[in-house]
Amino acid sequence: MDTIYALASGAGRAGIAVYRLSGPLAGAALVALSGRALPPPRQAIRVTLRDGHGLPIDDGLVLWFPGPASFTGDDVVELHLHGGRAVAAALGQALLGLGLRPAEPGEFSKRAVLAGKLDFTRAEAMADLIEAETAAQRRQALRQMGGALEALVEGWRAGLVRALALVEAVIDFSDEGVGEVELERAASQIESVRGEMAAALADRHRGERLRDGLHVAILGAPNAGKSSLLNRLAGREAAIVSATAGTTRDVIEIHLDLGGWPVVVADTAGLRDSACAIEAEGVRRALARAEAADLKLALFDGATIDDATSGLIDADTIVVVNKADLVAEPPATIAGRPVLAISALTGQGLDLLLASLEREVSARLEGGGGAPLTRQRHRAAVAECVAALGRFGQAIEVELAAEDLRLAARALGRITGRIDVEELLDVVFRDFCIGK
Ligand code: GDP
Repeated sequence: MDTIYALASGAGRAGIAVYRLSGPLAGAALVALSGRALPPPRQAIRVTLRDGHGLPIDDGLVLWFPGPASFTGDDVVELHLHGGRAVAAALGQALLGLGLRPAEPGEFSKRAVLAGKLDFTRAEAMADLIEAETAAQRRQALRQMGGALEALVEGWRAGLVRALALVEAVIDFSDEGVGEVELERAASQIESVRGEMAAALADRHRGERLRDGLHVAILGAPNAGKSSLLNRLAGREAAIVSATAGTTRDVIEIHLDLGGWPVVVADTAGLRDSACAIEAEGVRRALARAEAADLKLALFDGATIDDATSGLIDADTIVVVNKADLVAEPPATIAGRPVLAISALTGQGLDLLLASLEREVSARLEGGGGAPLTRQRHRAAVAECVAALGRFGQAIEVELAAEDLRLAARALGRITGRIDVEELLDVVFRDFCIGK
């Protein structure tokens, strides 16, 4: 196995930069660089690191984590040096000279997974935690890193493996009176797991939305004030505000943190029929965006309630009338939905709009206590599992039913990276009191 190294902290100038070495040569590299014996495990000591010619590279703290009690399971060394390009270059040279190579992206985590230190869901959560921009994203990542999703999926899988053991018993011991009762027990076990999985699939992609941000599209006629509103929300000039109708021809996005919930707000082209091909394309994109959005802000110019925008109002729409500074009495409802009056120009009503948006967003992202599926990959595997369980119920021969159950358990195993159904089966099977 190669010994790899990488800068573990952010690149660039910094007070401290942390480098991580992992693999069989890590200990020898530390001895060579520090010119002394390995320090006691997991204790920071201060040393001067030197290159192959004995010239100093930098002065810093080093730690030694002998495997298997390390992040990757290999021998690991951490070097806490000064952050800067020249130190990084000199250290890189020295490590290459000692036979190490730079790590690929994600290679430390991959080694940790292969060593059984982490399952896939925890490794994914660690990546999510690093990407997290809001408090809710951080909390979701932390829960998953603590094993919440792994426990959920492994719980389902254990249920299916127990059911499989019952079905296998029916196959192997049918002449000894094992049959109907066991099959019924297996079926009810499977039904309860299937119900939980169906509920997890029907959560409106809560976990994925929380990772990516809930998508909100601002829709409205040209000049309704969509770009002005977006800029207000962003607190900066993210979209071009212009008095010429039809300026926003593409979709412009901003990322907001609304009380900890991540939100992506998109400004779209004004909705109107246009002879201009580019603008028409913008309108097409706006409509596609409206279709895909989790929430819509239908924005009306206070003086005109246009049909194109009214036609898109549904249960996932917040209806907003803009330019309240010009309009004395905005309508109380449009298309049967209550209206929020704002002025993107003066900021009037914006607090109410933000509060209403936050309520709608949290209603969509907040879930029960359970760990949500956070990636399309998880969702696909659970859906495959549910499909296989559906076939189980219809299988006429018990051997075929057992095969469907095995496939179902294996699909779940792909989520955590544990696919050794047979091994678990042996363990469970051994405990069965069949008398053999
Ligand atoms: P969009 O085409 O919907 O993106 O509209 P813009 O944001 O570009 O605004 C169109 C025009 O309306 C610009 O001249 C804005 O300054 C003006 N405008 C936007 N919001 C308000 C508002 O609340 N009050 C007033 N008086 N003018 C506004």
